[in-house]
Amino acid sequence: MANYNPKSLKAEEFINHQEILDTLAYAETHKNDLKLIDEILEKAKERKGLSHREASVLLACENEEKTKEIYDLAEQIKKDFYGNRIVMFAPLYLSNYCVNGCLYCPYHAKNKHIPRKKLTQEEVANEVIALQDMGHKRLAIEAGEDPVHNPIEYILDCIKTIYSIKHKNGAIRRVNVNIAATTVENYRKLKDAGIGTYILFQETYHKKNYEILHPTGPKHNYDYHTEAMDRAMEGGIDDVGIGVLFGLDKYRYEFAGLLMHAEHLEAVHGVGPHTISVPRVKKADDIDPTEFDNSLSDEMFCKIAACIRIAVPYTGMIVSTRETPEVREQIIRLGVSQISGGSRTSVGGYCEQERPHDTEQFDVSDNRTLDEVVNWLMRAGYIPSFCTACYREGRTGDRFMSLCKSGQIQNCCHPNALMTLKEFLMDYASEDTRKIGEAMIEKEIDNIGKEKVKDIVRERLVKIADGDRDFRF
Ligand code: SAM
Repeated sequence: MANYNPKSLKAEEFINHQEILDTLAYAETHKNDLKLIDEILEKAKERKGLSHREASVLLACENEEKTKEIYDLAEQIKKDFYGNRIVMFAPLYLSNYCVNGCLYCPYHAKNKHIPRKKLTQEEVANEVIALQDMGHKRLAIEAGEDPVHNPIEYILDCIKTIYSIKHKNGAIRRVNVNIAATTVENYRKLKDAGIGTYILFQETYHKKNYEILHPTGPKHNYDYHTEAMDRAMEGGIDDVGIGVLFGLDKYRYEFAGLLMHAEHLEAVHGVGPHTISVPRVKKADDIDPTEFDNSLSDEMFCKIAACIRIAVPYTGMIVSTRETPEVREQIIRLGVSQISGGSRTSVGGYCEQERPHDTEQFDVSDNRTLDEVVNWLMRAGYIPSFCTACYREGRTGDRFMSLCKSGQIQNCCHPNALMTLKEFLMDYASEDTRKIGEAMIEKEIDNIGKEKVKDIVRERLVKIADGDRDFRF
């Protein structure tokens, strides 16, 4: 039997089944051990993170008072590291051709009635124009796995097209990529194409169940999938985004696995994941999420987010429109730093007037427009940020993390958020959103620490009002 070793490059050693079972047993035994929970919370207050075992005890804890402390600490850590900024993005579905057999995904190869669609480069350009006209600057491209229809060359062509479109004042300044696990050589090509984060959801860390849930196709290979981030890093991509599809397996198992994966990346590459996503299985074409029997309550879902925030304070956390506005509001407060808005999860969906359902990957629970989401965020006291500066300034991987850890990053993020929000207000916002936004910017300028930076931001805001774009620190 494989031994646990976070430094190993073998999936079964760094995501070790026995270690997860031992962790869950430890958490169960200690879930009401208030002395231990206090010690873990004290350690967490140092904001250097927690191990998967420590965080698993917090997740299992049933004591109401301690649970409240967990939430309060998560909220405080969120404020300390991310301020009140929320980064905005949108998914862009390129193709739903897929050779895999994932039991939870309507794009699975055996689904014979879902229309298959792959965007031409002209269609990609039209989608990008529609996204730019909403105000988006950051995309996550999505595609099924199909070496014939969606080879890496197709993905690279799409990235080129996306970056080339400059419609009115619009531009997509960061393309994150969510495609199936691939080779080091292909990761290098993605890196050379100028991608931001490479995102790949583990779906489930439980190997046996993973193999059942992925009965056919290349994705069936658990080890190849689980070791993908190491290949991505070998290929030069230093911002990687991990996640599990909550609802497929027991959430405590997934939570421990997720943190072990983060510990592994840090141990081997000296830098943990750039982001963690927390998707939940949703209804879709021929998919009924209740079939998976592991759905979790909104309350537990929020607790998971709070415990992730405490365990890995420097890692961004992403929530999509799979969640309702109500859940999004809670989870943003507890730790999420990036959300999608105005999303269409179908191939070619942004060019349609009405949200199309025929090629949708999953049912969207937040159907508001980007302007409505931006408006809602600001009313709740958050600054919607369209910033993409870090990776364009070479602040990626361990450089980004060390800036984060020293608190230096705040000097860039806050002013960049205000300047990119100003661009949104000038180019895309409704009158009401603009009014709220201008007042917010005025108020938030005072929260910039350095006087000199404040002056520069004021100057640049005037220039943005006069038509200049794309300033950044
Ligand atoms: N095809 C790529 C792969 O296999 O990794 C990635 C792209 S896929 C379009 C993006 C993600 O959507 C998947 O990794 C999965 O977690 C999620 N997904 C699939 N079916 C879903 C469903 N019914 N509800 C919610 N999310 C789903």
